[in-house]
Amino acid sequence: MNALVYLDYAATTPVDPRVAEVMGRHLTLEGTFANPASRSHMLGWQAEQAVENARRQVADLIGADPREIVWTSGATEADNLALTGFMRANRERGRHLVTSTIEHKAVVDTATALEHEGFEVTWLTPGADGCITPDQLRQAMRPDTILVSLMAVNNELGSINPLAELAEITHAGGAALHVDAAQGVGRLDLDVKRLGIDLMSLSGHKAYGPKGIGVLYVRRSPEISIEPLIHGGGHERGMRSGTLATHQIVGMGEAFALIHAEAEADQARILALRNRLLEGLSDLEGVVCNTAIDAAVPNILNLAFEGVDGESLLMALRNLAVSTGSACNSASVEPSYVLTGIGVPRALALASLRFSFGRFTTEADIDAALAAIRHALPGLRR
Ligand SMILES: *Cc1c(COP(=O)(O)O)cnc(C)c1O
Repeated sequence: MNALVYLDYAATTPVDPRVAEVMGRHLTLEGTFANPASRSHMLGWQAEQAVENARRQVADLIGADPREIVWTSGATEADNLALTGFMRANRERGRHLVTSTIEHKAVVDTATALEHEGFEVTWLTPGADGCITPDQLRQAMRPDTILVSLMAVNNELGSINPLAELAEITHAGGAALHVDAAQGVGRLDLDVKRLGIDLMSLSGHKAYGPKGIGVLYVRRSPEISIEPLIHGGGHERGMRSGTLATHQIVGMGEAFALIHAEAEADQARILALRNRLLEGLSDLEGVVCNTAIDAAVPNILNLAFEGVDGESLLMALRNLAVSTGSACNSASVEPSYVLTGIGVPRALALASLRFSFGRFTTEADIDAALAAIRHALPGLRR
């Protein structure tokens, strides 16, 4: 009864037990533990086979060639490599980058660092639905624009960007499109060829794989050139050196293969859970949906509770593992830049919670959340 109800899948997902099992077979002496770069013995070759199998599993989910998959330590590193690596490699062609104010910090902070390096950045502001429109992008394009970086799904709101249209405008302007798709895996069709995506960041741990592993998809034809950020043994075709983390890699591969097979059924179930939560709150006054339901994935629901102090709300709901609409800096509590970025007033942003669900969420979890909220709200408003 006192168990914590986990409704924070957008922060990280638990590893699927089937994924953990595969990972466990790639660690010990009895398993496939060798260095995948070891060319002088059979064990190294077996590890390389395991890595290449996982590379194909990830490539298959996004319609890519396995040679277009670059292993990284996560989506954060993939975002850094995409933006910095691309801007530095292509600086002769132009110095202008277009992105948005509600990207993940891995993109926002990288773009800011690039501004300090002498590149120019245009920051698009999304509408109240959290989406960037094709028209906005069209107006931001300049002759010297070489890269556009926009996310597939926003991690706080669940809002979905119109990727195919954005890609078309990007390419018409002679630039390349990078997409942070960490939250899109298993929720959207991420076929890079159909959508026209040139660079795409993925993370293992947002899709029932392990933390500490990610991928940057780098298009081969026409070839996208990026400068490496990490120098060393020349792994990953020179784009990302470092001994490949076999167990993490096979975990991400297995997780993506499971998504390929099961995402559709998962999504239908998750949509029903989201609607159960919405319906269960529908008769309550002053519950505002920050997520534009019709333009969002079903597994993320960001709600504001009017007239309530955010911290008291979180305290009252301490049997729920959810995220707040705030970020604690050393000195103060600041509202989420994503919520203020779509125009949510400061006080309402501070009284917001993000509920996010996934493969292992049950109706009982949703009902426990509903009961907790309905129990807590009257007291907090008094
Ligand atoms: C979680 C997340 C990241 C960071 O991924 P890591 O693998 O944890 O580095 C980047 N972008 C988005 C949209 C995310 O949700």
